[in-house]
Amino acid sequence: MYFPSWLSQLYKGLSRPIRRTTQPIWGSLYRRLVQSSQRRNPEFNSFAVRTNTCGELRSSHLGQEVTLCGWIQYRRQNTFLVLRDFHGLVQVVIPQDESAASVKKILCEAPVESVVRVSGTVISRPAGQENPKMPTGEIEIKVKTAELLNACKKLPFEIKDFMKKTEALRLQYRYLDLRSFQMQYNLRLRSQMVMKMREYLCNLHGFVDIETPTLFKRTPGGAKEFLVPSREPGKFYSLPQSPQQFKQLLMVGGLDRYFQVARCYRDEGSRPDRQPEFTQIDIEMSFVDQTGIQSLIEGLLQYSWPNDKDPVVVPFPTVTFTEALATYGTDKPDTRFGMKIIDISDVFRNTEIGFLQDALSKPHGTVKAICIPEGAKYLKRKDIESIRKFAADHFNQEILPVFLNANRNWNSPVANFIMESQRLELIRLMDTQEEDVVLLTAGEHNKACSLLGKLRLECADLLETRGMVLRDPTLFSFLWVVDFPLFLPKEENPRELESAHHPFTAPHPSDIHLLYTEPKKARSQHYDLVLNGNEIGGGSIRIHNAELQRYILATLLKEDVKMLSHLLQALDYGAPPHGGIALGLDRLICLVTGSPSIRDVIAFPKSFRGHDLMSNAPDSIPPEELKPYHIRVSWPTDSKAERAH
Ligand code: ASP
Repeated sequence: MYFPSWLSQLYKGLSRPIRRTTQPIWGSLYRRLVQSSQRRNPEFNSFAVRTNTCGELRSSHLGQEVTLCGWIQYRRQNTFLVLRDFHGLVQVVIPQDESAASVKKILCEAPVESVVRVSGTVISRPAGQENPKMPTGEIEIKVKTAELLNACKKLPFEIKDFMKKTEALRLQYRYLDLRSFQMQYNLRLRSQMVMKMREYLCNLHGFVDIETPTLFKRTPGGAKEFLVPSREPGKFYSLPQSPQQFKQLLMVGGLDRYFQVARCYRDEGSRPDRQPEFTQIDIEMSFVDQTGIQSLIEGLLQYSWPNDKDPVVVPFPTVTFTEALATYGTDKPDTRFGMKIIDISDVFRNTEIGFLQDALSKPHGTVKAICIPEGAKYLKRKDIESIRKFAADHFNQEILPVFLNANRNWNSPVANFIMESQRLELIRLMDTQEEDVVLLTAGEHNKACSLLGKLRLECADLLETRGMVLRDPTLFSFLWVVDFPLFLPKEENPRELESAHHPFTAPHPSDIHLLYTEPKKARSQHYDLVLNGNEIGGGSIRIHNAELQRYILATLLKEDVKMLSHLLQALDYGAPPHGGIALGLDRLICLVTGSPSIRDVIAFPKSFRGHDLMSNAPDSIPPEELKPYHIRVSWPTDSKAERAH
């Protein structure tokens, strides 16, 4: 493995002014900051006992006396050693002459991954021995002195990136895993993006970086909160799911523009790509509307976007929640590819196909379809079978595959009942080609759309595993989803309402009257930001009227308003109109770096089950140490056996 000159690229990229893609939106302030941010590369060697980093040496350093510190990456025949630091690799020539026997002994005996310091001269490699794949490949170090700073014991795995290791092992020895090129790149890119975000928010737009408490109290509906015992009997803190209340209170306090790189906590159990503690770029502003927040975030992402990626184009497109559901079957559509859901109810008004007839005879019955491009070529019979099984098992829905090429109806006998005129109308409506396959379903609008939305993504993955290029891996497709409903039926009791976002979200100005008549129909001023099919942010304009907030909490959501009396009181003391948003930093960086998991962009993440595999947290506490908290563990009977082990 060779380090590319990624680090200099990263720093260069991020300190260069952003490429302009649209009208400049920041005026003279922006220009001033960009000028001042045309910094040179950071000084990596200041304050350290080295003169250079391993990765920075080039032919321009020839003849220089250097001191380097690093880890031994590997050794070749006791003649060469490759030294590594965060910046890259450099070849060190092990001296062979008698007078340097002690240097040779140190460099030949130190195990791989030991830390050494070497001093010597930068020389060119002999002709023909240059390594063009290595940024430092034209030079090597002729060593004069060497010092073993710390020896390395036998490692649980090799550091080299191409050595595949299980994630559990990586997490157990995270400090070793962090030495890998990929983890170094991810964490440095994350740090750079956050730095640019701070610059944009604080220096360009006057935001104030404010820390809010993590020891807080339970909030209504806060079932996902972690509890922290206190020394007062029966009293607990809660770790906040987000700084939502504090950021609103900061607006009441006249701070006007708040932001924080905020740690949030949600006890959601095992979810593949979630973390019990995660980071948000949390933002709140006074005297702003929805479009104001949207433009702020577009500018923020454009400004902080790494320059080695295609530039972010603003403004981002917007769809309403209703359109997103109808077209993509989800509120977080992946808009990098088509295969949109099309309503084809009218084509089948006179159908003889039983399940279509059935669906259309019902009041809200529809027929919907998606078109799988070149499906006849890429999908196998067993794929169609598993698609149909999935629809039946998970949605209790039928799927009818229609092969437009008449010779390919092998898997859907009912398709013979499709009349020629219907086939032609289908081709027209769905803009299909010869080798395409149409997947058709019928039923109630939301259910049919959700199913087709899932199949759309499944089929996209399938087509890609079979070699079709459907989604450009370099494409970042941002999308705003707006006009969400204010309330949704509660999962456990659909007759009751819960907030679609959170209870502080303001209703859509044209729907306020519905709160008193048909609250279910009221839309909200809630907006989500979606990137390549992932929700990376969400926020809302807030309710700043205490009366309305009290009505929504108490009457519509049936919450105990006493728990929020501080907030309600604050709204009564001249709260300004305000709104905000939070970006999920981990997910954003995960998408930017193309990492398979958010754990790959967090230095010390928890496992899938919420454990720290390195330190074994959460851990048990002896009963006497629980006493000051007035807590006793009540062990579930079946874990007694486990404890005995
Ligand atoms: N606090 C909200 C969340 O974490 C974001 C917001 O409304 O600003 O989803």
